[in-house]
Amino acid sequence: MTPIRLFHDPRYEADIGEHVMPIRKFRLVRAAIEAEGLPVTIASPERVTDEDLLRVHTQAYLDAIRTGEPLALAQSQKFPWSAGLAEAVRWTNGGCIAALFAALEDGIAGNLASGFHHAHGPNGEGYCTFNGLVVAQERARAEGRMRRGLVVDMDLHYGNGTASLLADRPELFQLSIYGNWYDKNQAYRDVAARRTPDTENAWSVPVPNGADGAHYLGLLHEHLGPAIERSRPDVVLFQAGADPYMEDPYSPLLLTHADLRERDRVVFDACKRRGIPVMWVLAGGYTKDVSKVVEVHVNTARAAVEVFGAP
Ligand SMILES: [Zn+2]
Repeated sequence: MTPIRLFHDPRYEADIGEHVMPIRKFRLVRAAIEAEGLPVTIASPERVTDEDLLRVHTQAYLDAIRTGEPLALAQSQKFPWSAGLAEAVRWTNGGCIAALFAALEDGIAGNLASGFHHAHGPNGEGYCTFNGLVVAQERARAEGRMRRGLVVDMDLHYGNGTASLLADRPELFQLSIYGNWYDKNQAYRDVAARRTPDTENAWSVPVPNGADGAHYLGLLHEHLGPAIERSRPDVVLFQAGADPYMEDPYSPLLLTHADLRERDRVVFDACKRRGIPVMWVLAGGYTKDVSKVVEVHVNTARAAVEVFGAP
């Protein structure tokens, strides 16, 4: 098989000090994939441009991220602002574009950074500065490489930033299957207490507290096919979060590494069978033992090889 193209660069990482978000996981995932000798290539993307970001984000927000002022806006994603952070998010978003383009060409590709699904047009939120999922799709649409896209968001948290950006983008869709409702930087919100309503193109599937793998995968099987049929996407963007994992401090779900690997296999298989290109990103993961976060993300790469490596 042709090696799957992945994207990563040391510049993805900024010094954010001691933080609940283990930003070093990007390089740890790369190292683990390389050590295993999976049939992939790992290349650096190009840095995202102002033009790319301005299709999605406001000029005032770009200025705040570049200069650090006003500080509240520059830190709206809840990272300490630094020039290094402003640079790192340019590279991680560039990786989303590169992976989307590679997926459109090859059928499968991945970015070894997050999709940043909590970022809104005028501000960041929840460790997400710029929304790479929407930035990448708008770049590809501007170049005529795609028209319709579906984000399959399997992070623990609801993809609220993406949903807000999709409100005036009727050809872009999202299926978010989540066990924790996230809003205004409140990480702990019981989905039983509040479920985000569906919109025309952003579908919301809450997973109840205590759900196990069978329950979670059952919801995925129930909703993935109809979401693909309704959206008729040219490409799927898979937000493969590690935070649904049972030991994650934010997760009320009982999901093992095997459950999450099966989730990844199901998503990839659904796309392959329909001939729809799919790209994946890593997304959240906060388990204190970072090796358990890395294991979820490496399993996503293994699942991609398993599905797309088959003749
Ligand atoms: Zn999350």
